[in-house]
Amino acid sequence: MSGSPSTRIFELRDSAALQVWREELSESARVGFVPTMGALHEGHGSLVKKAIEECDVALVSIFVNPLQFNESGDLEAYPRTESEDCHLLQSWGAHAVYLPTPTDMYPEAEVQKVGAGPIGNRLEGAARPGHFSGMLTVVRRLFERVHPHCAYFGQKDAQQLFLVREMCEEAGLKIDIRACPTVREHDGLAMSSRNRRLTSSDREKAGALFQAMTQANRALLSGTSELSALEDQVHSFLQKHGFEVEYAKVVDDQTFDAPSPGSLLRIVLAARLGNVRLIDNMLLGKEP
Ligand code: AMP
Repeated sequence: MSGSPSTRIFELRDSAALQVWREELSESARVGFVPTMGALHEGHGSLVKKAIEECDVALVSIFVNPLQFNESGDLEAYPRTESEDCHLLQSWGAHAVYLPTPTDMYPEAEVQKVGAGPIGNRLEGAARPGHFSGMLTVVRRLFERVHPHCAYFGQKDAQQLFLVREMCEEAGLKIDIRACPTVREHDGLAMSSRNRRLTSSDREKAGALFQAMTQANRALLSGTSELSALEDQVHSFLQKHGFEVEYAKVVDDQTFDAPSPGSLLRIVLAARLGNVRLIDNMLLGKEP
């Protein structure tokens, strides 16, 4: 089955429709799955295109998962653009989109949540209590319904990617978790569904997030070894550019824990411009 923009995308509105669609696929068909929360952009598009390239069938889910929001205002403000999303998916050549309602996703009165472990409580997990447990709960449930061969995640959410891999390993799920590079705007701002909520003046400032990370990378390449000083520099650079910084940390890329000598390093950031919270990260020690 090839993904062609002229083929009408299947819109699967509940788990029963998903199951029928899944059972009708030939047993040999490799299913590539891209979980999203919608308000799609080219960052999501890169995952969908990779799934189409590597698999026989590409299925995308769109579900704004209430379990992973720790602030109700943030959940309500999350952009919902279903019909534009379906058009984009169609134009990218995705085969099917699963658009569950909250009751379809969580029919039970009390949801048993997947634990996120110690790394799930650090950084993004510390800033947003319960976020990763909610994220893993929905991803696990989606995996159980979709039975994908491969699932596609963005490096933009590097800690999420790490935890999804860890969950699959611990649960013995034989799904190939594929990491896709972060797609950025011209000024380096990582594409995100949240960017559309930035005011035009905040949008102008937002490229400083990328500049802060590239400066940290340059400092490391030119011999800086004091990581806490590096973190402090990033912090004050962002503050100077109008951000309220939640965290700016250098972690071991393989463990998401504190680095030890010889670790591959990644800088991870979360900062607010007005009421919009942005996250980003970059592998350090490599020439851009
Ligand atoms: P979201 O809809 O924000 O939950 O994101 C769905 C998937 O798209 C996640 O795996 C994200 O990491 C990925 N993603 C979001 N933004 C980007 C981006 N700018 N580049 C690459 N992947 C992205």
